[in-house]
Amino acid sequence: MAKRTNDLPKKAYKFRVFDHTAPKPFFAQSFGCTRWTFNQALGYVNHAWEKTGSFPTKNEVVKQIPQWKVAFSFLEEVDSIILQKAVEDLFEGFDCFKKTKGKQMKKSFIKQVKMIPSLSPKVWDFKGYPRFKSKRHSKKSFTTKMTNENIKLVQIDNKHYVKLPKCNHLIRFKKTREIEGDIKTVQVETDNLGKTYITFTCELLSSKIVPKATNDALGIDVGLTSLITDSNGNHLPVPVRYSSYKKRLTFLQRKFSRQQKGSSSREKTRRKMAKLHQKIYNTRLDHLHKLTYRLVRDNQTIAMEDLDVKQMLEARKYSNSIAHASWGKLKELLTYKCKSYGRTLIKVDRYFPSTQMCSACSDINPALKGNTTIRKWTCSTCSASHDRDHNAAINILNEAKKMVSAT
Ligand SMILES: [Zn+2]
Repeated sequence: MAKRTNDLPKKAYKFRVFDHTAPKPFFAQSFGCTRWTFNQALGYVNHAWEKTGSFPTKNEVVKQIPQWKVAFSFLEEVDSIILQKAVEDLFEGFDCFKKTKGKQMKKSFIKQVKMIPSLSPKVWDFKGYPRFKSKRHSKKSFTTKMTNENIKLVQIDNKHYVKLPKCNHLIRFKKTREIEGDIKTVQVETDNLGKTYITFTCELLSSKIVPKATNDALGIDVGLTSLITDSNGNHLPVPVRYSSYKKRLTFLQRKFSRQQKGSSSREKTRRKMAKLHQKIYNTRLDHLHKLTYRLVRDNQTIAMEDLDVKQMLEARKYSNSIAHASWGKLKELLTYKCKSYGRTLIKVDRYFPSTQMCSACSDINPALKGNTTIRKWTCSTCSASHDRDHNAAINILNEAKKMVSAT
């Protein structure tokens, strides 16, 4: 029997589009219509919420698209799937908002209340609610889906092209690796340096031949000093180059704030900053990919703490640390890599006192709670000496083993 589509591992391939041959008007029109539809849908939802106090469903909003097309004929000129995808993206935003919806209100609303105390908050006055996309500042992208072979890959004289629906041009891209699996969606995006990328998200049909794990199980502790400490006592650091990039970024940011608004030198600095941000992001992602690949290749089971959003936000306090930006990505990469390599990822309850417990005698040392400065300590009960993170990783591994044997 065929597997349910949701179970199949997905893989994304991102390539650079050759700018000089790219159909810029087609891209601009598609970006514009995506943004317009997103905003129109958000307006529709807001209006419905104000009238009835509840949200319309995604399908109800998608059903509006044909009417919008009649009223706004420019929508007819682009692929209709990208309009539908814009609505789907908006609803992903709503799902996220519903999941993380704290009781936190936006600063702008808190300011208003100070002046008009009788004001009651609307749903969009809470943090995390989807925002209208701006023409200047929002990411420029559109996404289409494969239906009835509407997307085609073409190769002419060793040059690689893709044919997208409603586009009269073939789009040439720099194919740096083979695309495996069935293409499901194609996203085109232009970054703030004007570079265009195309991303193919594919469903892998069969799991690849995976090297056998050499180690049975490993516990990892995710931290700020070392990004990862494993239960064998290895500290896996953050990339070295990162700190020099960070220094340069601080320098540019200062320069930028001093420069006159609207001047060409300020624009130059902005581009330099954007380039550097990209570089930092790429370095970090590359590092995380290599790190997680090695972990997944070598270990059949990996145990980690179930990090949550709140912890990650708390880690922001250590803004000089690379870790805060990496934790979420680390969890994401480990999750999908374990899935596609047939490994098991066990997430240990985040309230489990992995740091404070002695891994030798299970005694709790309360001095460690909330105090990140203690790196090494000795257990007062059994006098075992511990490295803070190594001890935590061992505890996480032991707890995961208990969880497995209990089921
Ligand atoms: Zn002890």
